[in-house]
Amino acid sequence: MKPANTLLTGTGTTIFTVMSALAVQHGSINLGQGFPDTDGPQDVLQAAADALMDGRNQYPPLTGVPELRQAWAAHERRFYGIEADPDREVVVTSGATEAITASLMALLDPGDTIAFAVPYWTTYVDIAEIVDAKMRLLPCPASQNYKLTPAQLDAALPGVKVFLFNNPNNPTGMVYTKDEIAALADVLVKHPDVWVICDDIYNRMVFDGVGYHNFVNARPELRDRVIHVDSISKTYGMPGWRVGFIAGPEVVAQAFTTLNSNHITNVPEIVTAAAVAALSGPQDVPAQKCAEFQARRDQVLAAMNAIPGVVCPRPEGAFYVFPDISCAFGKSHNGVKIANDVDFCNALLEAKGVACVPGSAFGEPHALRISYTCPAEQLPKGLERFREFFAELA
Ligand code: PMP
Repeated sequence: MKPANTLLTGTGTTIFTVMSALAVQHGSINLGQGFPDTDGPQDVLQAAADALMDGRNQYPPLTGVPELRQAWAAHERRFYGIEADPDREVVVTSGATEAITASLMALLDPGDTIAFAVPYWTTYVDIAEIVDAKMRLLPCPASQNYKLTPAQLDAALPGVKVFLFNNPNNPTGMVYTKDEIAALADVLVKHPDVWVICDDIYNRMVFDGVGYHNFVNARPELRDRVIHVDSISKTYGMPGWRVGFIAGPEVVAQAFTTLNSNHITNVPEIVTAAAVAALSGPQDVPAQKCAEFQARRDQVLAAMNAIPGVVCPRPEGAFYVFPDISCAFGKSHNGVKIANDVDFCNALLEAKGVACVPGSAFGEPHALRISYTCPAEQLPKGLERFREFFAELA
């Protein structure tokens, strides 16, 4: 385990946190926020209020209250097409973040290697460092649509203990098609010693009929070494409730009894009641948000494609667009030099009051992340200011 001061240097998280704070300070149009613009359904809030008034304030089981594990197993069946035993293969966690951290603690010894694609969700690097793993980063630039190829995965996996996969992707919004998932699954079958963690928390936000697909559906023999991670943060717009899940092989789920016991102990029952209501109740919020986000994706993509020099692969999910803006590097805005993505985001914020997250937070410094979950009326204004900023570069 590394000393705390080494752990505090997590660069991606730092850039992300600093930019988010600046956005709020400036009262700007925030195209940096990583959660949907909804407060969570009313029946969910009512369920939490009822649990509170019922005095449900004891220690729940370490792997989560049975009703929530059952609700998650039902969700796993409905959306992933996978049967998971709620008593042996499902564990409730404090968000997807804790699910990933604890899964890696269960699977990795110090010095083991974890592989994942770049761009990555910022915390993957920090978590890998916390568990003292070696990282094998697999570059997926805009020129390959930010997607991992089967050949690249095949070449990368020898010696790897865990492959961490995120689909739909944060920050790129890219979604792997059924055929692409099948081709990657074929590669995984060839590497029987590799555990696979699938961070699929945006799986209800997929556009254009691409659909959400997973490795176990493609190659059922992978089931014994695939761990699914999901949470209610994005699907129901409930990031502050801190509820996530893993569904995976019993040997991994069992490890969570010890891990949860010594980290979070358990997810509180009031929060559990809200999560059960979200998972089991009407599913109109995620469906409605998905339709809204597809229309906003179109707006952002059209705006990016209209700017000469910007390269923007077409995202088909989540709520992010990840344009390559490196054509701006070496130019200036009103005398302010732009050498890299961080300069670009700072100048854009200062000059136009528009906040985005620099791509280097995600390991890809040629790009920046635009999130389109701001209030709907602000999005066209933000995009227009973005266009103006580019037009004013000299
Ligand atoms: N994985 C990805 C890809 C994410 O984008 C996020 C949050 N932005 C998380 C995990 C963490 O989610 P949670 O709020 O459930 O911890």
